[in-house]
Amino acid sequence: MAGNLDDMFSNKNTCNWFKASIALIITKQELEKFVDSEIQKMHANVGRVCGNCFTENLIKCPTCGVCRNAKSCSFHNSPGLLPRPCPMKICDQVKQNIASHHRYSNPSWKNTRAELWATNHWEIAKCYLPPDGYTDVASVQGTDFNGVISILLNCTHFDTCFSFSNAPSSPYPECILTQVRQIGRDVRHTSSCQVADSDLKNIILKLKSLLTDPVSLANDPNASSAINTLRKLKNNTQFITPDELLDHLKDAQQILVKVNDQSERVSKEVDTVLLEIDTHMKQCLQQIDERENEARERISKEGKEVLAHIESHRLASAKMITEKENEVKQKALQTEKIAREVHQKAQEIEYTAHNVEIHAANVFQHTLTIDKKAQEIGNNIEIIEQKLNETKMTNNDLDIEGNTLT
Ligand SMILES: [Zn+2]
Ligand SMILES: [Zn+2]
Repeated sequence: MAGNLDDMFSNKNTCNWFKASIALIITKQELEKFVDSEIQKMHANVGRVCGNCFTENLIKCPTCGVCRNAKSCSFHNSPGLLPRPCPMKICDQVKQNIASHHRYSNPSWKNTRAELWATNHWEIAKCYLPPDGYTDVASVQGTDFNGVISILLNCTHFDTCFSFSNAPSSPYPECILTQVRQIGRDVRHTSSCQVADSDLKNIILKLKSLLTDPVSLANDPNASSAINTLRKLKNNTQFITPDELLDHLKDAQQILVKVNDQSERVSKEVDTVLLEIDTHMKQCLQQIDERENEARERISKEGKEVLAHIESHRLASAKMITEKENEVKQKALQTEKIAREVHQKAQEIEYTAHNVEIHAANVFQHTLTIDKKAQEIGNNIEIIEQKLNETKMTNNDLDIEGNTLT
């Protein structure tokens, strides 16, 4: 079912109406970023407010379009909300700047809260929205198609953003913005939920022509994707996921509920379409449920695989750690053994040194003994030499005697 919009409703023109309401949503989504960023630029240029002045303080009583009866005013309705100049003398100028950007010089003061002008740029944008029904809107996303196009038409900041004049005077035809605003109103205020083939073609053509305007939007990369979607919508190419379809169905449902609420008697056609929308929403929800279940199963399967992978990694790591531990233990044992050996060698060296010392002492003792012996020998030699000398002398004496005798 998803994407096949031509078979969704029993009436062909109701299919067209549904397509037209989708086309408006796509166009509005595309305009959001552009409008928001331009309003931010404008916000930076209108000046900063003090933050303590309320809109009521800045607006005279009475003011056209705001309040009429100065004696019992429902707008200026408490002592703190009476008109007065800004104590900082800045807010009045900001108010003037906002008014000077309004094409008809009548900003929707009732929509906006001046005390937020400094912090929220969209409070400034709200001055250019239609006067009723936008008080609680807080962002461009929360503003409807009619409101967004009204800002483009009413705020003169946007005059330089398009190739055409935003406010052509008669006899020139209405500009494209006014035309698409009317399309939005026609589609949303339908009492029959029907759009003829030729009208749908014209609607898509107008929206495309706005999104392809050469000055700003044609240069926006997102615009080309919106234009692509509009083309698919026209050609009924399958393109919508169940989630997107559900969103569009919800939106269509809201439009139609509002139509029924506002009209005096409930339209039969609208009721039939509401029933069909209800059936399709159920189908979408079922498809989304099925897809989510599939996704859940896939995630659970993938999760298990991941867990198994983690477990095998954990085991491998644990094994590696044990091996490393054993290696370290082995190394420690080896180191201890080497230390023991070193200690033993040191003891041996010490022992040898001790022996050498004893030996040296012995040698010394021995030397002393030898010295002593040598001394004794020396003495003996002296004695012998003395004896020899004595003997020689005796011999000489004998020789002399002998010679004398002879
Ligand atoms: Zn008043
Ligand atoms: Zn102020």
